[in-house]
Amino acid sequence: MRVSTGKATQSDGRMFTVVVEGFGVGLQRRAERRLTVPFSQLQRLMQTIALQGGRIRAINAEEVPAGSEPQAPSTEAAADAPAAPPTPARKAPVSHADVPVNLYKPKDPFIGTVTGNYSLLAEGAIGRVNHITFDLSEGNLHYVEGQSIGIIPDGTDANGKPHKLRLYSIASTRHGDNCEGGTVSLCVRQLQYEKDGSTINGVCSTFLCDIEPGAKVKITGPVGKEMLLPPDEDANVIMLATGTGIAPMRAYLRRMFEPSERAKNPEYQFRGKAWLIMGVPKTPNLLYEDDFQRYLAEYPENFRYTKAISREQQNPSGGRMYIQDRVTEHADEIFSLIEDPKTHVYMCGLRGMEPGIDEAMTAAAAAKDLNWSELRPQLKKADRWHVETY
Ligand code: FAD
Repeated sequence: MRVSTGKATQSDGRMFTVVVEGFGVGLQRRAERRLTVPFSQLQRLMQTIALQGGRIRAINAEEVPAGSEPQAPSTEAAADAPAAPPTPARKAPVSHADVPVNLYKPKDPFIGTVTGNYSLLAEGAIGRVNHITFDLSEGNLHYVEGQSIGIIPDGTDANGKPHKLRLYSIASTRHGDNCEGGTVSLCVRQLQYEKDGSTINGVCSTFLCDIEPGAKVKITGPVGKEMLLPPDEDANVIMLATGTGIAPMRAYLRRMFEPSERAKNPEYQFRGKAWLIMGVPKTPNLLYEDDFQRYLAEYPENFRYTKAISREQQNPSGGRMYIQDRVTEHADEIFSLIEDPKTHVYMCGLRGMEPGIDEAMTAAAAAKDLNWSELRPQLKKADRWHVETY
């Protein structure tokens, strides 16, 4: 996408033309369209396009002859763009009501095509975790960071009935991994356990880890509003992830730091502090490690990355280093950040991580004369404590 904004300010009355594909109703969605709006409406228009699954190809500043009055929006844009906010809306929070949910239901799922499926693990890792991407371009399935989709695996269950859907956190931003829209990616761990001397493979996770590019998959959703990222570019975001719980965090971090994402989102140029605390059993099980190292190198002031590698590192008592041990170790800094109303905490991964984190937060709060069992509901009510475990 090309972005040319010149030196516009919110009050100079300059007009911007957004070149967009896949936006509007009926035949409009098929054609490339040009929507011209004043700067005060640009951000809202871009949010509307993103939420409706449109792909912005370019944003061009129109030249305004010296001394000319601010122009009214063109008729076409005025029809699509929401009315301008009364004052230039800097970071109006995205309303939860605007977030797409259940666009596709189990009775009539979207049929996505697999475009990629590769292992995220390095040599010597435990288990199997894959990154799987689906093409969505033929329909209207769109989503925002922090949501999940449902997958209905092929085949039938023990009773001969079609399998039920399983939920997976979305690992890509709303623009997809190629940053052009029209795709969604997942981070899936194959469930495997031993029972009565034989190895049982999870139905859907095995279906997904084995799937080949070109295969068609039934997809539902999107669902979920628990893990939405605040639109505030100055927010602080603490992320506690174990294993595939990294999926939504990967989407947030791409939105914050990936150069192609930043170019695509002039309305979201993250300037706050993002702190990822990640738990895995072994170093080869670290997920998306190269990307995170790149963000560290490029944004050392904004990104912090702490690992708990349970089978390789020791906690202060000589036991395995789990994510809750890292929370205890950094309790002071975590609580100082939480005292700032701009701070949000996200937790995602296996359900088993919750009691440990809770215990660590209780001890950390007590050290600051705070009561975690009182504080946590307050944070939750303020929409600053976000948990998705499974
Ligand atoms: P199934 O065939 O459904 O088997 C699961 C069942 O096996 C369990 O219900 C239990 O009865 C049994 N079982 C499991 N372990 C054992 C054991 N050790 N011993 C005995 N029995 C056992 N997964 C991801 O990989 N990545 C994600 O990003 C992700 N996001 C999720 C987001 C949400 C909101 C939710 C709710 C879940 C998410 N999951 C994610 C989990 C996912 O939905 C599936 O539950 C998981 O993939 C297993 O499904 P399956 O069909 O492979 O297993």
